[in-house]
Amino acid sequence: MKRLLVLGLSLLLGSGIAAFAVEVTAVSGSKVEIFSRGDLVDVLALLQVAGVKVGFSAASGSYVASTESHEVHFTPGGSLAVVDGELVSLPGPVRQLENHVVATVETAAAILKPLGFRLVGNARALSLLVAGQVPVLEASVLASGEAATLLLSGLPEKPRVVPEADGFRVVFSQPVQLASSPSGAGVFSGVQVQEKELRFFLASPWQLAGSELLENPLRLSVRVVRQVATLAKPQARTQPLVVLDPGHGGEDEGAKGQGGLVEKNLTLVLSRLLAAQLQKAGVAVRLTREGDEAMALADRVALANRLQADCFVSIHANASPARGARGAETYFMSAEATDAEAAQAAARENAAAGDVQLILWELAHVANMEASSRLALELQTRLNRLSGIRDRGVKQAPFAVLTGTTMPAVLVEVGFLSNPEEEVRLSSPAEQERLAATLAEGILAFLRSRPAATPTP
Ligand SMILES: [Zn+2]
Repeated sequence: MKRLLVLGLSLLLGSGIAAFAVEVTAVSGSKVEIFSRGDLVDVLALLQVAGVKVGFSAASGSYVASTESHEVHFTPGGSLAVVDGELVSLPGPVRQLENHVVATVETAAAILKPLGFRLVGNARALSLLVAGQVPVLEASVLASGEAATLLLSGLPEKPRVVPEADGFRVVFSQPVQLASSPSGAGVFSGVQVQEKELRFFLASPWQLAGSELLENPLRLSVRVVRQVATLAKPQARTQPLVVLDPGHGGEDEGAKGQGGLVEKNLTLVLSRLLAAQLQKAGVAVRLTREGDEAMALADRVALANRLQADCFVSIHANASPARGARGAETYFMSAEATDAEAAQAAARENAAAGDVQLILWELAHVANMEASSRLALELQTRLNRLSGIRDRGVKQAPFAVLTGTTMPAVLVEVGFLSNPEEEVRLSSPAEQERLAATLAEGILAFLRSRPAATPTP
């Protein structure tokens, strides 16, 4: 990033159809006015401000703009260019106007792009930005009542979202710029651009709930929720709190056995039984859904985060093309799947997230990762004992519902509905009761093993 230019262009409005001038502000602070008329800007002047060498060939009547590694030939009167020896068509023609070589912003951007510069902006708003190799992101906020979504577009790559106490960071591997701060309903109290990071500060009642990458074009959607006032003092809690997440619900049925056992029903039954067991042992429990209703994965996570639960356990049942597959599996969150089976399970469970690419959260605290693996182990060893089969083991995979949790979180696949024998077993109320008791034991063992919490004032 040797020649990092961020040029702010603002059109100085003339009266009526009089000539416009565009003011170019470089990072260095220097400002240059260049020729502009209507939606046309002076291409040669832009190249010059960007520091690109421009030559003219009288023989061919074309200009050659070149950097050390790239070359673009373009000809006034034409809408073709030769980029690094390859013929490409520009969005529109380059024209001669008075003694200037002009083009629309879009066309000028197409000439500058292969040279390592980005020209973005909105001619309608009469405000333009030029960035040398630095992508300029657009941010918009959609707020409605208790929830709001920040949409970041113009992403050069898939970023990571890192939760912070007072907001979150969006981390790239390269420098980025933000076209403008998101305005919207007092959700954000500020935004900082820190080279490769965008730091978003949330106004006090708002909390990060989750995020998703959307494809075509690549965008980041970050969901924030208003913290519920009655939950403002979770420290005052005397009982540990566990959030149980019955997988799937509503139209999303999850896996289905040949005998008709449906995952969404099984997970709810098991979660209710497990809740009863835990409550008996003095643990407070909340379910992410109480009935057969659809619930977004991000909302399940948001609930657990808002309540500041001591742990989050998502209950599921597996399916596998291998009909003999059997046994329970316990997962905790990881960017990488332990093995191909783990990757398949995650892909299947993430289907509810739609056509959405996961953002892999950097776990804010290594302690959560470590604690999640301990919780998974407490559960898995007991599940193995219960079923008396070979250890399917604790595994890691990028499960959408585990991303963004701010407490130890695991996902349990209690067995394979695709295996007719297991389906019969899992349909049995006695077996369901045993499973719930086993899971309760594991969770209680985990809660007991936790280091005493340091009281926060
Ligand atoms: Zn599932």
